[in-house]
Amino acid sequence: MSDAGDAVLTLTNVESAYGPIKAIRGVSLKVKKGEISTVLGSNGAGKTTILKTISGIIDPRKGSVHFRGEDITSRDPALIVQNGLCHVPEGREVFALLSVKDNLLMGAYTRRDRDAVARDMAQVFDYFPILRERADQDAGLLSGGQQQMLAISRALMGAPELILLDEPSLGLSPKLTKTIFEIVVRINRERGTTFLLVEQNANMALHVADYGYVLENGRIVMEDTCERLREKDDIKEFYLGMKEAGARGERRWKKRKTWR
Ligand code: ATP
Repeated sequence: MSDAGDAVLTLTNVESAYGPIKAIRGVSLKVKKGEISTVLGSNGAGKTTILKTISGIIDPRKGSVHFRGEDITSRDPALIVQNGLCHVPEGREVFALLSVKDNLLMGAYTRRDRDAVARDMAQVFDYFPILRERADQDAGLLSGGQQQMLAISRALMGAPELILLDEPSLGLSPKLTKTIFEIVVRINRERGTTFLLVEQNANMALHVADYGYVLENGRIVMEDTCERLREKDDIKEFYLGMKEAGARGERRWKKRKTWR
């Protein structure tokens, strides 16, 4: 596990299941304050289940979840959000019949400081200018990429310390995916927001995150800094689609690394 002394989130031996199906089996991980951590894994590995267990949507059968040193295992999801931990689910789940602006205000509904809320609204419009243009339109009319921008922005409006981000690249073009990840990095650097990112797009995740865990069949099988994970042959072959870690693959890899 990451030797994160200043971990904001800690999972210890967490096991979660759907009836007889064990989705995660003894997962332990730490997310360091101010960093972007990622969980990589193929379809069905258990990534979404980890996030749902953290945010209280699923009660784990075993193990514990600590946020800012406090045991939040199985706590009411609404209380977990109020404590500063926000989950942006796979599929965005924006309020389709509310305007973009009202979606953003929903994200800030527990906050009393109107000036700070207005400042945060201006900042999310700065991150995603298209949302300012569409502020009065129904969120259901936005494209998939714009809905992803709105979902991340709505989470930011709650001024969370930690955002759980589930597959933000799902269904988006490579260009839009890159734009969204660049803004996630900006939010992390400028606001100090910590992220736990779940992604099937390993190439992208390993370039934006600081620390990574590899999940297979509900178990963490590898973990390291993303810099070191990117150099591992197993990762290159199975997650980055580089069948030969030979000269050609190396050249391709170096070229990809320059996007950031
Ligand atoms: P994906 O990238 O496809 O979302 P994932 O890594 O997020 O995959 P999970 O969605 O956490 O994986 O699923 C882990 C396991 O739990 C899979 O075997 C999946 O079929 C099973 N599972 C997930 N949700 C349910 C559910 N509601 N009922 C029963 N089984 C489920």
